Amino acid sequence: MKITDCLNRKEAAFRAYEKLLESQKDLNAVITPIAPSGSFSDGKLSGVPIAVKDNVSTKGILTTAGSAILQNNIPVFDATIVERLKREGAVIIAKSSLDELSMGSRNLTSFFGEVHNPHDLSRVPGGSSGGSAALVAAGIVPAAIGSDTGDSVRKPASYCGIIGVKPTYGLISRYGIIPYAASLDTVGYFTTNVKDACRMLEVLAGHDEKDMTSSDHRKENYEEELTSDIRGKKVLIMKDVLDAIKDERIRRLFDNVINILKKRGALVEEVCFDKDLLCAAFPVYYTIANAEAVIHHVNLTGIPSGKKEEGEDYEEIITASRTKGFGHNTKKRFMIGAYALQEENREKVLVKARKIRKQISDMVLKKMESADVLLAPSAPKIAPPIKEKARIETDEEFLIADNHMVIENLSGMPGMSMPMGKVEGMPVGVHIAAKLFDEKTMFSVAKAIEEDSVKMFCE
Ligand code: GLN
Repeated sequence: MKITDCLNRKEAAFRAYEKLLESQKDLNAVITPIAPSGSFSDGKLSGVPIAVKDNVSTKGILTTAGSAILQNNIPVFDATIVERLKREGAVIIAKSSLDELSMGSRNLTSFFGEVHNPHDLSRVPGGSSGGSAALVAAGIVPAAIGSDTGDSVRKPASYCGIIGVKPTYGLISRYGIIPYAASLDTVGYFTTNVKDACRMLEVLAGHDEKDMTSSDHRKENYEEELTSDIRGKKVLIMKDVLDAIKDERIRRLFDNVINILKKRGALVEEVCFDKDLLCAAFPVYYTIANAEAVIHHVNLTGIPSGKKEEGEDYEEIITASRTKGFGHNTKKRFMIGAYALQEENREKVLVKARKIRKQISDMVLKKMESADVLLAPSAPKIAPPIKEKARIETDEEFLIADNHMVIENLSGMPGMSMPMGKVEGMPVGVHIAAKLFDEKTMFSVAKAIEEDSVKMFCE
């Protein structure tokens, strides 16, 4: 479904809302449905039904971040992006499910239950923005909001066969978003096509004085200036990622994409990075993200907002509220974060992780000085079955091929995943990263791929 299928159609949001309620038994993608009122303003998204991840504050509407501790949290204000969406006429019809506090890549840890992939209900949609991804992939809404701290928009986009964009750090305001890790968090979004991805960024991007990390990058006309002319563009291919992927069918789909780009006159080159640094990217991300999460979430005590448990004194109340209020996975991540923050470990764990983060960023940004985009398959596998246990592995397929997209969070670069074909009937994505604030070039490469893959499917 495209934005233009719903634009200025009074009945579109009502129809989407009905479909959404109906889909709930299969997908379980929604925490709070929001019935449309039928009124909306004129603008780039007039009447267009949109789903918003449930870590985005919505005035007067339950906002849980997928956690029991926030199961009765009703914000008194709208996040800046909600204001922007509404100003352009969007109709928000759902608060979509997510991994608890955005901690996960499969959408199995939400207090409100697992979310299912519309392509195969026995599989995960990816996380942590899996509810939003499932709703777009199921054709219920043409666009949805997610957040991406370490690939949480791009991984579900790959698993669900849609577009998922993580813009440059600071380009979209995070005011009113329940954080995971402030130095890595970005608002991202899903669409089904590149043109819609451009329009969404135009609506969402722009300086916000309420967010101190918000950039003052000028407004851009991504949609109007979208071109698929990529002649002379320099495309770097991440050879280390390809080498780490065991499934030959995924490598073959990626070769097709490269052929499209070559045929269109792009200059394609393979690049190898320092292996040790590549392998360190995920552990570095995990250390920093979880340390920051501990700091952000000390205030989740069940007081004054959230679910408060009984106790004799303050200490007992917050201990009981936090013990009951967080799931196992979240507590595990808090332990890791707390370990990194402890005074005796800080230097050798957290400070070291920050130093390596800088080395990884410098390494990639340096290579990008003489290139336009960086390409790799988004993931080495199709969406895993819900029954399969998520595990942290130490092999290159996990560290490099499955988690290379954290590099854009570590460095701030923009990245997007788009469909490049199917394996066993399940979608797989290609990831395109670009220079800081060069979303325009990222979109033009995506557009070129989109045009030719449509042709490939028709022939
Ligand atoms: N895969 C990442 C994780 O599990 C994604 C988290 C995110 O981007 N919010 O930490």
